[in-house]
Amino acid sequence: MAHPADSLMSVMGQCHCGAVSLAAEVNPARVFVCHCADCQVLTGSAFRVVAPVMPGSLQVSGNVKGYARTADSGAVRWQYFCPECGTPLYAGAPDGAGLTTVRVGVLAERDRLPPSAQLWRNSALPWVDGLRDVAACERQELLG
Ligand SMILES: [Zn+2]
Ligand SMILES: [Zn+2]
Repeated sequence: MAHPADSLMSVMGQCHCGAVSLAAEVNPARVFVCHCADCQVLTGSAFRVVAPVMPGSLQVSGNVKGYARTADSGAVRWQYFCPECGTPLYAGAPDGAGLTTVRVGVLAERDRLPPSAQLWRNSALPWVDGLRDVAACERQELLG
């Protein structure tokens, strides 16, 4: 997914408990959202947001656990997460071959990595485009 004309960004991130940290070079022009059913379940949320990692640039410190998921296409992808806190961190192959993607939500630079594409819109939750119209508060006043 990398393109020679795109500029790269150095990113750093860590899981919620801090046991795992990572660094990588990503392509900020290729961040995407995936609305597929697998991503909804794997994130426990409405969609997944990832950035493609430049080959060989991902550096991980701390122990991670991998979960192999076979897609309908037959392709196997490994989802890696922190075994202590469960934070999803990245996906790819154990040997680093093929596309590796990092979860944007764990990155310190996440506010500078807006998506430029949405995949699997046919399974997007119906309210995702209407969030702007949902009652909102600065913190969590609406829970009170
Ligand atoms: Zn953790
Ligand atoms: Zn997906």
